[in-house]
Formats: sequence, structure tokens, C-alpha cells
Amino acid sequence: MSKPRGIQGPPVYLTDPYSADVDPIPKPGCTRCAAADQRRTAARVAGLPATAVDASVEIWRHPHPNGKTNGQR
Ligand SMILES: [Zn+2]
Repeated sequence: MSKPRGIQGPPVYLTDPYSADVDPIPKPGCTRCAAADQRRTAARVAGLPATAVDASVEIWRHPHPNGKTNGQR
């Protein structure tokens, strides 16, 4: 056990669990990306950030014929 110093330690800052919502752009012409984008928008309006993040992840990870996802550059 550490020796008491008589002062309080610095505050701990936790990260925002939804900070990974980077708002990926849906691939134009992709119906699945468009559907996920609609779900994301509706979830944000309804105040459901976790659902919005799920839709963003789906957009981010959805593969397209060029072999890339929206998350790959
Ligand atoms: Zn897509």
C-alpha cells in the first residue's frame, strides 16, 4: 500500500464511449448503406446514440464490389 500523502490525486477522465461515431459516409447507390443511414438518422432523432453508432459501424464495415469498406481509404 502506498504511503498517504495527505492530498487528493488528480481527477480521472474517462473517454466518451460513443466518440468512435465518426459518421461514415454511405456509399452512393448502395441500398444497404442507405438503409443504415436512415436508421442512424432516426436513432439520433429518437435520442438513441447506441443504435446510431451500430448503424454507423454497419456503414463503416459494409463491403462493396471494389473490395473496400467505407472505412478503408
Ligand atoms: Zn454499402
